[in-house]
Amino acid sequence: MDRARLSHLLARESAEAGRRNPRSRAAYERADHLFGRVPMTWMNKTAAGSFPRYLDTARGARITDIDGHEYIDFCLGDTGAMAGHSPAVVAEAVQRRFGTLGGATAMLPTEDAEWVGAELTRRFGLARWSFSLTATDANRWAIRLARAVTGRPKILVNSYSYHGSVDESLIVVGPDGSGTARPGNVGAPCDVTLTSRVAEFNDLAQLERELAHGDVAAVLMEPALTNIGIVLPEAGYLAGVRELTRRHGVLLINDETHTFSAGPGGCTAAWGLEPDMLTIGKAIGGGIPAGAYGLSAELADRLLDRSDLDLVDMGGVGGTLAGNALSVAAMRATLEHVLTDEAFAAMAGLAERFEAGVCAAIDAQGLPWSVSRLGARAEYRFASPAPRTGSESAAVADAGLEDYLHLYLANRGILLTPFHNMALMCPDTTRQDVDTHTEVFTAALAELV
Ligand code: PMP
Repeated sequence: MDRARLSHLLARESAEAGRRNPRSRAAYERADHLFGRVPMTWMNKTAAGSFPRYLDTARGARITDIDGHEYIDFCLGDTGAMAGHSPAVVAEAVQRRFGTLGGATAMLPTEDAEWVGAELTRRFGLARWSFSLTATDANRWAIRLARAVTGRPKILVNSYSYHGSVDESLIVVGPDGSGTARPGNVGAPCDVTLTSRVAEFNDLAQLERELAHGDVAAVLMEPALTNIGIVLPEAGYLAGVRELTRRHGVLLINDETHTFSAGPGGCTAAWGLEPDMLTIGKAIGGGIPAGAYGLSAELADRLLDRSDLDLVDMGGVGGTLAGNALSVAAMRATLEHVLTDEAFAAMAGLAERFEAGVCAAIDAQGLPWSVSRLGARAEYRFASPAPRTGSESAAVADAGLEDYLHLYLANRGILLTPFHNMALMCPDTTRQDVDTHTEVFTAALAELV
């Protein structure tokens, strides 16, 4: 890779973004009252020049910005809009609940909740469900329940996994092979090794060594890593995790927030996994904040039988707006009508086409890159063969190259998730959308090499 050429192209694309988006740039420059000039500091990671493009409208797989440009959206709110932006049936359900019936948050259950619980059981197998508004909170509460029920203090995660802003999860395998704080962790409440253990994905020997300490309540993991590229499990790894966790009396929590792309019941159903608990967020509300965690009937009964645990008031599990009527109505409409079994089959087919297009472009330039796919989601990484652990994948990150590709695509009407080279298909994505990406991506590589 000619780095000088890359810098030149990146500067060119950055200048082009400035020319194309004067209104977005002006809005950003005016935003003096926002911390970092954005509603959420991560919005500065847009990989789209020195300011973010501002959202105007979004419907299905399309977004427009306030400068009047239209985009094919493969970012889909980093999975929050995997159902497509504002699907009509979800909009109607939300309108009915909020407008016609009234009452988004009344501290009373609605009958939609049992429908959603039953549907999540059908898809993922876990027998009992509770709700949150984010995947982060679903993970936080699952972790608390796991510690309560096992009486053990620690949580184990995979190195370079991401489970939201969950304190216990911000740990990586350090250079000497032991756990250490994830670089950049902001304001940790304590040394993370007091609360957590860590193992590399696909490394059963390391997992076994860590579990042997006997202090781990739960392994919290994605069945495939999706936040450091996609790292797929090797044959026998997930079965090994299940066997080791059972042998050491450790609960297994599958975080299916992103791996939901694997199918209607995520990897858990697609690969016949048997977690004790499961967490999910983002997509299941069709764009309305929603999350959920599921647990086995046996685990639920054991927890409810414990008179020392305050599961009703201020015991640390729950939120005032969690499970609210609006969020639950949105989940029902999304699961019943949009992210259906049939929709997943079509989305996976499109992701396969996307993967083939990217592979062909990479091969044509002879680049040592790889592409991984998980159902409706595909991602390329600047290494071949594909990395097999989180740390390996972190080591091949290339911010400049990523920025160039993201900017090149954005300037030509295609959005990827800013934190990844990731593309996600929604029920409204078309073959033509995928082929347009292949064309533009091929041109981006041709200019580079
Ligand atoms: N779990 C996984 C696997 C995620 O990828 C994320 C966010 N990227 C979260 C949890 C946290 O989701 P949220 O920020 O919506 O709480």
